Amino acid sequence: MAEKVTFRKGGVHPEERKALSETAPLKKMAAPEMLYMAVNQHIGAIAKSLVKAGDKVLRNQLIAEGEGAVTSRVHSPVSGEIVEIKQMVFPNEAKVEVIVIKNDGKNEKAESTEQERNLPSSKEEFLEIIKNAGIIGMGGAGFPTYVKMNPPKDKTLDTFIINAAECEPYLTTDNRLMLDYTKEFLEGAGMILDMLQIKKCFIGIEENKREAFEKIKSENKDARIEPKLLKTKYPQGAEKQLIYALTGRVVPIRKLPFEVKVIVQNVATVKAVYDAVKFNKPLTERIVTLSGKGINEPSNVLAPLGVTVSAIADFCGGINEKAKYMVNGGPMMGKAFDNTNLPVTKTTSGLLFLAEEEVSSEEENVCIRCGRCIYVCPMGLNPTFLKEESDRRNYEKMDDVLDCIECGSCSFVCPSSRQLASSIAKGKQRYAKHIKKGK
Ligand code: SF4
Ligand code: SF4
Repeated sequence: MAEKVTFRKGGVHPEERKALSETAPLKKMAAPEMLYMAVNQHIGAIAKSLVKAGDKVLRNQLIAEGEGAVTSRVHSPVSGEIVEIKQMVFPNEAKVEVIVIKNDGKNEKAESTEQERNLPSSKEEFLEIIKNAGIIGMGGAGFPTYVKMNPPKDKTLDTFIINAAECEPYLTTDNRLMLDYTKEFLEGAGMILDMLQIKKCFIGIEENKREAFEKIKSENKDARIEPKLLKTKYPQGAEKQLIYALTGRVVPIRKLPFEVKVIVQNVATVKAVYDAVKFNKPLTERIVTLSGKGINEPSNVLAPLGVTVSAIADFCGGINEKAKYMVNGGPMMGKAFDNTNLPVTKTTSGLLFLAEEEVSSEEENVCIRCGRCIYVCPMGLNPTFLKEESDRRNYEKMDDVLDCIECGSCSFVCPSSRQLASSIAKGKQRYAKHIKKGK
């Protein structure tokens, strides 16, 4: 029996609810007539559109790019015509420019894309390929991968961690990818080790994905790569928690993983790196889990980016009358939304259509000082205190909000249904602005 590792402080055990989609085979969705490509799907400088209404585009053509050290690019998933460029409001309440493309059905691709090519001969060339392909953290964070893979010159890396915890309930995209693209995924991991000259790779997989763990273990021929079982406990996939579980190293407060010689990438990001480096394929598609009692056929779909929620839901048998809430991402960290015209982006790991009985909708009540939120916080914070100070906008006492990873564990256990995590997240945004202003 393989040893199972975990993080040290806090954590919760939400109902997994993965059974709805975990055995569903991967379904490939053809691109529909209309696609909506948000120019800003990443953290960093906003990308600017390079096209205008009436322009013709090819599949894989660059259509938006940003300037500066931290930014990303956007490519067209189809050949067709730009219909318009408009603003849409996304679940994080941000207004984002969206390039609307009419698919001409010809599927004509940009020259030299999607064909095998020579592997890069240097780290610089490798990072340039990843940058040009528009690859960002596909686990949800959206941080540009070329930046994350290039720590400051005085930092050395000795461990590459692949985050395959997929600890959010319902989500099964990483599981599906590891089962269906095992060879490509492992080759991608090997490429990253070669290019960044790192000697060790751990693939951290929660024990509820044992089939994927066994498959990777049996197909892996690279002695540098070691799949490791993690205990099923939320938030096992949070970066600092994962690093501790797999290496025993503690990333100092407000520091990044490279401080302990580690980089972390998500499963889907590794596969995207493989596609870009080996086949010159930019990031224009991803696997999305559609789940919950409100979708007729819970599924894992390989979908072109830019398809609307309604189009991908129709591809999965449609939304039914039980659907009362829609969530982009998992139920712990995802964002509620109500507009089915919004598109799938590079960070859409899941779309949940939840029935009344799948959601706790009790009224928020007074704090009974039970201390449960403090006990489960994986960052060792005092969530009830931070919520109160955040709601009061008491900046003098809010500094700890910056350490909150917004995992939602505190809200999950609160017997008074207090909206701790969302209040703290709002407080964090306001406090960050407040500090910036003061500088
Ligand atoms: S959301 Fe923040 S405060 Fe709440 S448990 Fe997670 S890290 Fe702690
Ligand atoms: S879990 Fe809820 S009721 Fe208990 S201390 Fe925290 S905020 Fe108060």
